[in-house]
Amino acid sequence: MSARRVTARRDLGQHFLVDGNILGVIGRLADLQPGDIVLEIGPGLGVLTRYLAERVAHVTAVEIDRTLEARLAERLAAFSNVALVFGDALALELGALTPPARKLVANLPYNVATPIVVESLDGLPTVERWCVMVQREVAERFFAAPGTKAYGAVSVLLQLATERAGFHAVARTVFRPRPNVDSALVAFTRRPLPLEYAQIKRVVQAAFAHRRKTLPNSLELAGLTSRERAARALGELELSPATRAEALSPEQFTRLTGLLA
Ligand code: SAM
Repeated sequence: MSARRVTARRDLGQHFLVDGNILGVIGRLADLQPGDIVLEIGPGLGVLTRYLAERVAHVTAVEIDRTLEARLAERLAAFSNVALVFGDALALELGALTPPARKLVANLPYNVATPIVVESLDGLPTVERWCVMVQREVAERFFAAPGTKAYGAVSVLLQLATERAGFHAVARTVFRPRPNVDSALVAFTRRPLPLEYAQIKRVVQAAFAHRRKTLPNSLELAGLTSRERAARALGELELSPATRAEALSPEQFTRLTGLLA
């Protein structure tokens, strides 16, 4: 009902959940446990926040839209285990929030879903499990295979840092207002980050910055190395200097980074 009364801000990706059934799917994919400490980005009107608060030890919910404060406070008034933080999740230091989150569970704002997920991989080292609602197309990118159109920097980084734990396609009808795109819930669990993850991330982001260029050209353009050195490193991996970023598996990116170090 409150979703009907609120004028949703599409620029903030406000599509509120209005179908309670999907909450059960989120709970299952997030593998909620009574001791969990959860970070939710974008509580909106607090439907998911409340569901989480009833089932876990603590929820920190970060919302950018201060005009929702009164409604959120009202809906969550009965819960002493919820901390509401107002601000931009991309600008706040989420890693400094206490208690440190073990799970990130959110119906993410679509316009910033990818950077939020990518930055959480190394920025929120205590998070062990994610369950996020994102645009279907974005969900497919997360675990896309090398060489496919959907495969990109986010696929490499996600696959290096996590393992897929679940997927659930979500109908547009569960949101108000209805989005123009399909959605999906994706769950994944942390794998130990490679030691040189920060360097790998720089190489991967530079490699995919210019998809149509060869890898040596992209890495030189980003100022990471010379074309010749990149070509030699590719040679060591038995790959041609004309190779493009999308041909390399996550493991090959790790090896390439080591060769360039
Ligand atoms: N969790 C609610 C639900 O499921 O009904 C709302 C989800 S809605 C898709 C996304 C929410 O994220 C909105 O409440 C929006 O205001 C908020 N939001 C958008 N950009 C944000 C940002 N950069 N940081 C924090 N919250 C943001």
